[in-house]
Amino acid sequence: MQITIPGDVLTIIEKLEEAGHSAYMVGGCVRDALMGITPHDYDITTSAKPEEIKKVFKKTIDTGIQHGTVTVIMHGVGYEVTTFRIDGEYKDSRHPKNVSYTDNLAKDLERRDFTINAMAYSKKSGLIDIFNGKEDLERKTVRAVGDPYERFKEDALRILRAIRFAAQLNFTLDEKTKEAVVDLRKSLNNISRERVRAELEKTLLTGSQEKLMLLFDTNVYDSIFTKDLVEINNSDFEKVCKTVAKVSKVPYLKWAAFFSDCDEKTAQGEFNALKFDNKTKHGALTLISALKKALPDANDMNYYPVRKHIHDVGLIYYPDFIELYEAVYEKEFPYKEAFEKIKKNNDPLMISDLALTGKDLINEGETPGPNIGKIIDALMEKVLKNPSLNEKEKLINEYKKIKKEM
Ligand code: ATP
Ligand code: MG
Repeated sequence: MQITIPGDVLTIIEKLEEAGHSAYMVGGCVRDALMGITPHDYDITTSAKPEEIKKVFKKTIDTGIQHGTVTVIMHGVGYEVTTFRIDGEYKDSRHPKNVSYTDNLAKDLERRDFTINAMAYSKKSGLIDIFNGKEDLERKTVRAVGDPYERFKEDALRILRAIRFAAQLNFTLDEKTKEAVVDLRKSLNNISRERVRAELEKTLLTGSQEKLMLLFDTNVYDSIFTKDLVEINNSDFEKVCKTVAKVSKVPYLKWAAFFSDCDEKTAQGEFNALKFDNKTKHGALTLISALKKALPDANDMNYYPVRKHIHDVGLIYYPDFIELYEAVYEKEFPYKEAFEKIKKNNDPLMISDLALTGKDLINEGETPGPNIGKIIDALMEKVLKNPSLNEKEKLINEYKKIKKEM
C-alpha cells in the first residue's frame, strides 16, 4: 500500500506542521487512495483553529468557519482544511447542537460515519486507522464507526450514505449496520429532501443492478417515496434497477429510468416532493412522457412520422430517449437508422430550425398575438412533412395559403 500525496496537499500539511500543529489528509481521499482510485478532492484535518489556519496561508476563504472549515487556495485549487472537531449533542437526527474543537485526532475520527471514511494519513505519521477501516476496505464492507444505531440516530442521512457507499464502491453492508439501516429507515423523514435526493442520486449514478436492490432489500425505498410507488414488488424493482444500471451516468436519465414504469404525474409528484432542480426534473419528465407516447408508424419512403416524433420529444433529448427505450424494452430502437439519416440530412425539426420567424410574419402584416404561435406551428408541421419547404420565400407562400384557409 502506497499513498501518494499531491504536492499542494503535502505543502499544506507541512506548513501546518512547521507552525506547530498536526495535520492529515482524511476521509474520502484516504479511502480512495488506498483503493487505488484517484481522489476527486482532498480534505485536510488539523489541530490548528480556523484563525491559526488563516495565519499560515496567504489565500484562504471562510467557507464554513462555524464548523471550523477554511478553504486554502493553492495554484487556483481549493482545499478544505477543518479543525479537529467533536460534534455536540444532536438536537434532532441531523444537526449537532454545536461543534467544539479538540486537539485530539482520534476524537475527530470518531465522529465520522463509516470506518472506511475514518482514516487519516500524513507522511510524518503514516496511516492512522483506529477503527480498522483498511481491513473493512479489504473485506469490501461498509461498517458504521461504533454503534450503528447511535450513529444513525445522530444523523439519519448516514442511513442513505451507507447504501450510497455500498453502491458506489460495490461493497456490502456489515450485518449490524444493515440491521440499523432497516430499523431506523423511517428517521430519514427528518432529513431535508435536498440532502436525501443528493445521496439517492449518487446511489443511482454509481450503483450496479445488484447494489441498487439494497434500496428495496432494506425497505429504505418505502420510507422515501409515496405510498402508491411503494407497492412495487421485488421483480418489478429488479427490472427498474436493471434499467437504471444500464443507462448513462447522467442524472436526469438515471431518474427517468428509476421512474420509467410510473406515469408522468406520479413521477412529477415525487420529483416535487424531493425538491428537484428544474433542469433534472424537466429532462426526466420529458423522457418519461416520451416513453408513454406511441412510436411513429413509419416506412422507409417517408420519415415524416419519425421527424414528427423527434419534434414532439425534442431533438436534444432524442438520443437519451433512444437509450432509455432500449434499456427499458431490452431491444433496439426501431428508428435508430432513420434518426441518423434525418440528423445527417440536417432536416429542420424544431421551431428554431425554421427559416422564418414570428417577426417575419409581422412584417408580412400579421398582428402580434397568440395567432403567431399557431401559424408557426402550422408551418412547422408542413416543414416536418416536407423539409424542402424550409426557405423563407416558400414559407411566406405557405403562410399566405394558411391565411386563405383560416
Ligand atoms: P465522496 O467521494 O462522495 O466525496 P467522501 O467520503 O469524501 O466521499 P463527503 O460527503 O465528501 O464524503 O464527506 C467527507 C468526509 O466527512 C467523509 O469521508 C466522512 O469522514 C465525513 N462525513 C461526511 N458526512 C458525514 C456524516 N453525515 N456523518 C459523519 N461523517 C460524515
Ligand atoms: Mg468528499
